[in-house]
Amino acid sequence: MSDLHTLSVKVLAESLRSKQVSAVEVATRFLARTGGNPHNAFLDIDSEVTLAQARASDAKLADGTAGPLEGVPVAHKDVFVTRDFVTTAGSKILQGYRSPFDATVVQRLAQAGMVTVGKLNCDEFAMGSANENSAYGAVTNPWDTARVPGGSSGGSAAAVAARLVPAATGTDTGGSIRQPASFCGITGIKPTYGRASRYGMIAYASSLDQAGPMARSAEDCALLLSAMCGPDIDRDSTSLDMPSEDFTASLNNSIEGLRIGVPKEFFGEGLHADVRAALDAALREFEKLGAKLVPISLPRTELSIPVYYIIAPAEASSNLSRFDGVKFGHRAKDYVDLVDMYKKTRAEGFGNEVKRRIMTGAYVLSHGYYDAYYLQAQKIRRMIADDFQNAFKACDLIAGPVAPSVAWKLGENAGDPVADYLADIFTLPASLAGLPGMSLPAGFGAGGMPVGMQLIGNYFKEAQLLNAAHRLQQATDFHLRQPEGI
Ligand code: GLN
Repeated sequence: MSDLHTLSVKVLAESLRSKQVSAVEVATRFLARTGGNPHNAFLDIDSEVTLAQARASDAKLADGTAGPLEGVPVAHKDVFVTRDFVTTAGSKILQGYRSPFDATVVQRLAQAGMVTVGKLNCDEFAMGSANENSAYGAVTNPWDTARVPGGSSGGSAAAVAARLVPAATGTDTGGSIRQPASFCGITGIKPTYGRASRYGMIAYASSLDQAGPMARSAEDCALLLSAMCGPDIDRDSTSLDMPSEDFTASLNNSIEGLRIGVPKEFFGEGLHADVRAALDAALREFEKLGAKLVPISLPRTELSIPVYYIIAPAEASSNLSRFDGVKFGHRAKDYVDLVDMYKKTRAEGFGNEVKRRIMTGAYVLSHGYYDAYYLQAQKIRRMIADDFQNAFKACDLIAGPVAPSVAWKLGENAGDPVADYLADIFTLPASLAGLPGMSLPAGFGAGGMPVGMQLIGNYFKEAQLLNAAHRLQQATDFHLRQPEGI
């Protein structure tokens, strides 16, 4: 099968089950494609480990004990800890770190039969919007290597877009699944906060972090999400005691009469004309499928930026205190006493963006500023969540842009971190509210770059989001287009 690397998760799983191809053949093909590390997407690859997993899958396929995704390759964002691969979270402070256990999400996908190809580059501790903050170098966008792939799950998005893997995991704290999916022309979904376990996901901002799948289509995302979700209450205190679902079951439901809310704040001044044009056309496709567009308002959209950039760094400053040179990874060589060791280890191990967030976080939590910043931010966070509930009285789901523009040029925002923060405006609200959100390819904009459409659902409405996305993908072919030279 010469086109193995272009097959969807669904077709690969079927081909493996019907023995048209073996798991070892599939793994060998994808490993070959990662040779030379295109786009700097991978941080760790170990073909021995991958082939051993593939052989185990072939044995299960032969004896009838195969899981639903048996033998299908996947790669994990490097914030998921793995026993068999190094885990760095894109940081020098964890260089060479090996975890004694697998993250729950990694474990569940392995139980479903998936074979791990390796670990994917990302912004350091998932802090970023362009994958330029990795200690191991930037990732490039397969559609135009002079551009960023988005972040922080940039390696995941680039790897799927370049057909280095059929699917990948990502994490989304403020948009890190949706935005890189949008920039690289693939599909990704962040479920409701608490549906996928955070156990073994290196924490950035614990009240926001969620895992989710990134693949080419909504259907493939549904297959992975079904395996990833489900309670893990003994190991993650915020895990919901709610069974996973078969998210593929409702994919072919009609969307006749579905009310799609279009927030006016998402289509204001900051939105680039090319992105707006692509989205308008995609919304018309939804109308042709029988959906109804309903104008709505999310009045505190703009506030989501200061609110998020207070809350996320506050939590990060606390979470990252564990990297002290004692328990994990890097420790400075020359120091005079314990405090000096802490200081030097952290000064050497963390990159600039991480240091910036730790300082911001410590500041907004400090005595005298806590009430002025952190507490206020928490109050507005609640109002943002209430705004969504208000909006969902008039609509079933919400559609809008993922980002104000297509992927920008590498280095374009260098020295201006706030420019990256501002570009998060459309993904932050759903994150702050803990709502499920996804991005699906919706057309092309400036420079021929992909444009993603964001769909936001109410709590636990992942199936509805995936169904709507799937229907659109059956009527359009944006998700099937691929960068040149694949
Ligand atoms: N761009 C946002 C940030 O830098 C979101 C990152 C994420 O979702 N992990 O915090």
